[in-house]
Order: sequence, then structure tokens, then C-alpha cells
Amino acid sequence: MLLMLALSVAAPATFADALLRNLEIQQCSPGELATWGDGQDRVAAAGAFTFSYRHSGAPPWFNEQQVLLLLQRASAEWSKCGIPAQVSLTTADTPASRSHILVQWDAAGSAGHFGLANLSSYQLSLGAQAFHLLNQRNPGHNALDTLQMVLSHEMGHFYGLVAHSRRCIDVLSYYHDGKGGQCFTRHPQLLKVFPEYRASLPTACDIQRCRILNRMP
Ligand SMILES: [Zn+2]
Repeated sequence: MLLMLALSVAAPATFADALLRNLEIQQCSPGELATWGDGQDRVAAAGAFTFSYRHSGAPPWFNEQQVLLLLQRASAEWSKCGIPAQVSLTTADTPASRSHILVQWDAAGSAGHFGLANLSSYQLSLGAQAFHLLNQRNPGHNALDTLQMVLSHEMGHFYGLVAHSRRCIDVLSYYHDGKGGQCFTRHPQLLKVFPEYRASLPTACDIQRCRILNRMP
């Protein structure tokens, strides 16, 4: 599940800002692993994953090959956890299983969100409605960036990261808990500079958390 995205920008990001953000993506310092405690992390359901993508019902501005590429990027990064993943295309009703996750556009399954990981039915549901809303509100925004983040985030839930990260930059993060709690970052001033501070692919801390809970050396 993802909260609605911040869509306003105060000032354009400088090169130095982008560098600081990238460093925070690439480094995970001791003490930076923290979650909101909103779920129970677990071992991944399988020792290897196939993510099968069904394009039917996608918003018209995404083509099948674009989405497939985003899935491949996300799965290549999550594979660094030590659990390999591959991506394939499907057009039929492929039965999902522990190791075979079905990725599809599904209004009911996504429950109004951009994406939702249904861990018991092994489905990663994407919400076309949320992307239509994003397009209406901010037609200039590159929706592929948002889709990349959504796919990476939901994929992480299948890797066993059930709780959301409290570290703003992590792809598994929530910015706030709705009760006054805020995410933490090395650079709080940059939260206002980037329309989306959260990474679109798993960060070093996302991968480290994944390796710890899957007992990877
Ligand atoms: Zn989530």
C-alpha cells in the first residue's frame, strides 16, 4: 500500500541536492534500519520468484514493454537480497503461487491504491484509477517514475519486508504514520526540494533489511 504522493515542488533540485539524495540511497549506516512497526517482517515465501505481468486494463499511457522493463529493473535490484527473481509476460489467467507472483491491473485488488501486495493470494495488484487521478492532477509528471516506485515497493513486501520503513528515502517507506510521526532522513531540507524524495528502486537499507530477515550472509 502506498500513501498518496506529494506533488508540489518548492524549488528545483540542484546537482548537489541530487548527489546527497543518491548517497542516501546507496549507503546504509548502522542505526538507520527502522520501521513503523505496522507489520510483521517474515522470510520471503519462496527461494526464487517469477513475476508474471498481465498488461490488460493498464492506463493507455503505459505500454507493455515499458512496464516489463520497470519490473525487470525492480527484480534485478531485489535479487541483491540473495533471492533471484525473473519477470515474464502473461495474457491468460496464470495460477499464482508462492514462487509465481501475478502482477496485474485490478481495481478490486488494489482497493483504490496505486498498488497492493496481496501476500496470501500471491498477486501484486495495480490500481489504474489511482494513476488516472495522478494524471488528472499532474499531467506533466512522469508516471513511469511513480510506477517504478510502486512496483519496487510492492515487490519488497513479497521479499518479506511487510512493515514499512521509517527512513524517508527507502522504497518501502511511509513519510508519516497519520498520527504525527514523521519519517527520518539525513537531509530534512531536501524533502521539500524533491517532489518525491523516496527512491524508485530498493535502497541499500531496503536490501540490508531483506538480507537480514532472509538470513543471507
Ligand atoms: Zn506497502
